[in-house]
Amino acid sequence: METIIASPISFCGGVKHAVEEARRLSQRYPKVYMLFAPVHNEEVVSSLKKDGLVLLEGAAALDLIPEAQDGLLLFGAHGHPLAYEEKAIEEGVEFVDLTCPYVRRILEALREESQNHDIIYLGEEGHQECLAALSISKRIFLYKEGTTNKLPIKDQSPIFRCQTTMSLEEIEKARGEILSVFPNAIDRAAPCPATQARQELSRHLPKNVRSAVVLGSATSRNTLSLYEAVKKENPDLFVIRALDEKEIEPYADELRQHAPVYLMSGASSAPETIKRVQEYLESL
Ligand code: SF4
Repeated sequence: METIIASPISFCGGVKHAVEEARRLSQRYPKVYMLFAPVHNEEVVSSLKKDGLVLLEGAAALDLIPEAQDGLLLFGAHGHPLAYEEKAIEEGVEFVDLTCPYVRRILEALREESQNHDIIYLGEEGHQECLAALSISKRIFLYKEGTTNKLPIKDQSPIFRCQTTMSLEEIEKARGEILSVFPNAIDRAAPCPATQARQELSRHLPKNVRSAVVLGSATSRNTLSLYEAVKKENPDLFVIRALDEKEIEPYADELRQHAPVYLMSGASSAPETIKRVQEYLESL
């Protein structure tokens, strides 16, 4: 089956760096731990575990950090509350911070802006990046649809910011509500360039494609944002989201009937997975 490969595809810069560093350090040091998965992709995580990386998860971060006392602790690309570093120092845990430069820039801006403004933050509750943002100041409030008018905000010009992986559509929707409650709100909400570039692809699909496969995990926020954007922008297209070729298999017949297929991915699919899936689709 004819398969057209999107560009950009596969890891974004931040995830690529975190995964490569996690692999390099795991091979070099006797014991390397990572606080939560470096990427929302089960296949990549299991390959890192084979290289010796030990994932710390299943409990609160502050309770997990002391477990890394006999090795090196890695903080992933999505950012983390400062309290994690303070805990590591207190427990004598050596650590390496792999936070993506884009996330770091937003967190620094929030730190500075929250000294003079209230902030309305659009993010996914529980996501590491969102936890990091909300931990910075009591003046940062998580946006919840339909409740902006109930936020205890005194500032007439609060700042509106968002997690780097939000979809343009989600941002637009939140923006409308926030501006209706705070007409003088300062709008600084935008996804990172990597997320934005992937989402913009959904508006410029090659004219001849009749189906699209969006590769990525069901737990990857930017994959889900991309999948939703592709479906919304291209209502006549047959679109599926899948982690790998095994998850595509049940849709093989429908894809054959809707050739050519456009292969896309969120920022958490490894280059090896893309290559394998491309070969699979071409063999259909
Ligand atoms: S999605 Fe954007 S902000 Fe997040 S790790 Fe990738 S490049 Fe960095």
